[in-house]
Amino acid sequence: MRAGDQLYSILWLYNRTGEEWLLDLAHKTHRKSARWDTGLINRHNVNIAQAFREPAIYWMLTGKPEHQAATEKVWRDVRDKWGRVPGGMFGADEDARDRYTGPRQMIETCGMVEEMLSDELLVSITGDSIWAERCEDVAFNSLPAAFTSDMKCLRYLTAPNMPQSDHANKAPGIENGGDMLGMNPHGHRCCQHNGGHGWPYFNNHLWYATAGDGLAAYMYAPCTVTAKVAAGVEVTIEEQTRYPFEEVIEFVVKPAKPVKFPLYLRIPTWCENPTLSVNRMIADENLQPGKVVCIDREWKPGDRVLLQLPMPIRVKTWIGNRDTVSVSRGPLTYSLLIKEKYTQYAGTDEWPAYDIFPDSPWNYGLTIDPAKPTDSLKVETAEWPANDRPFTLKAPVRIVAKARRIPAWTLDRRGLVNEVAPSPVKSSEPIESVVLIPMGAARLRISAFPRIDNVTGKEWPPPPKPKYIASASHCWDGDTVDALCDDEVPKHSNDRGLDRFTWWPRKGGVEWVQFDFDMPMAVASAQVYWFDDTPSKGGCKLPKSWRVLYKDGKEWKPVEKPSGYPVARDSFCEVKFQEVTTSALRVEVQLEKDYSGGILEWRVK
Ligand SMILES: [Zn+2]
Repeated sequence: MRAGDQLYSILWLYNRTGEEWLLDLAHKTHRKSARWDTGLINRHNVNIAQAFREPAIYWMLTGKPEHQAATEKVWRDVRDKWGRVPGGMFGADEDARDRYTGPRQMIETCGMVEEMLSDELLVSITGDSIWAERCEDVAFNSLPAAFTSDMKCLRYLTAPNMPQSDHANKAPGIENGGDMLGMNPHGHRCCQHNGGHGWPYFNNHLWYATAGDGLAAYMYAPCTVTAKVAAGVEVTIEEQTRYPFEEVIEFVVKPAKPVKFPLYLRIPTWCENPTLSVNRMIADENLQPGKVVCIDREWKPGDRVLLQLPMPIRVKTWIGNRDTVSVSRGPLTYSLLIKEKYTQYAGTDEWPAYDIFPDSPWNYGLTIDPAKPTDSLKVETAEWPANDRPFTLKAPVRIVAKARRIPAWTLDRRGLVNEVAPSPVKSSEPIESVVLIPMGAARLRISAFPRIDNVTGKEWPPPPKPKYIASASHCWDGDTVDALCDDEVPKHSNDRGLDRFTWWPRKGGVEWVQFDFDMPMAVASAQVYWFDDTPSKGGCKLPKSWRVLYKDGKEWKPVEKPSGYPVARDSFCEVKFQEVTTSALRVEVQLEKDYSGGILEWRVK
């Protein structure tokens, strides 16, 4: 899946040694790799973020345009379906799933840092500044929020909308069961290792060598670079800035002696009327957002380059994903400021692990006029933090917005935010001023907002309520009994695209599931769609046998005259029986020896 990493290393080594056999090895590595040049071939978030760059890396060897195009296509296909959300990433918690595309779906910390590294390498391969913009989007809006601000703890998964972040199970709303959201210095294994490369690699790629023995800055951050440029002259450039919070970037150029070399700088797509000067003289009057500008001149010690990138507020509507809106300014996207209450749930005194609970209301929609979206938004700046940690609730830039609360927007029973309803929506709550802070500064966040419009909007629908009260002899922590009657029809018995119920890890015994009805109900048939993941080597199989029981007073009795109890994959298995009026019904199964079992949907009539 991720053999493109090796391909990159082989080419790196070839560039230093010129050993021909390395090129054969490179071709062979590509042949033996998963075929990312044919499209999105896997749904695992880290596989995608790490491996989609493979065709573009191979392009360095083939020069075929289709290899670069394949990388771009996978990036776009993933964003079109799961990435219509702020923060630069996509919902894949652990895998991207068909019907889970909203802003509460999450991304793994490993996925963020691999996406950043891919983008950083793609800048160097393609020279296309769009990859720098994509990298900054993740680096500034997603990565900081995956860690506590002191970087002692991280969580496995982070979403654009997540007003609570506690260690309790959130499946099946997100795919993974168990502790995924606890801020923990000890847990979340892979992310502890991978997460550490996010900022160092970002730092490594703040400067690139260019053709013509020059230097290029595509991503911006305060830093110093020392490099050999034309004629082997050593130059140090100090980059002084509070970007992405501020608009001005100053470069102080210090060559060992005067030397001519090209300096390339990226002009981001989002800026308006950017300016560039060298020693206070306009260096280029025709700067174009989305392009790279080149200053090719003789540089002298102490030359100062001033790049000003004005950051207008922008409002984006996520068309095709519930039409939520998000607010950005420059490379930063903004999230509702939710007060955070940290509660230790594990760890040690020195290295505590935290749940974070909301300590202020979070269920707001923005009142934004689509014709003049930025009129109701106002930028405010605050003191730069003395500890140089800008990604906290005291962020140095904030935006004040108008909003109304939406009382029907709640958390689900597991503390996962209920999915946002399609905008616009109505709210009769009063208009309030709310504060937005950079998404990267918000560990609790609403950053894909519903838009309030009391003329054209719809009422917020009540949270989905299961048809019957479902229960079971046992339910796996990552599954839910509510899947039994959620009216989601599976495509086949191994369908992972919807919520399911299983008795996992119980094997081989007699187990049951039960519906309780609000009122006694007449029933004469039951249809069961069995879960069976043995085709993908799972531990749940069709049951050996089953039967239907009904409640008669306090007793459970088998239904009479059953038409038969078929057991089959990939369809509903129906039994008809003599009608009975009852307050509760059960399906009782005998599991196969050494196997567990499960049900995707159970209908009664
Ligand atoms: Zn991970």
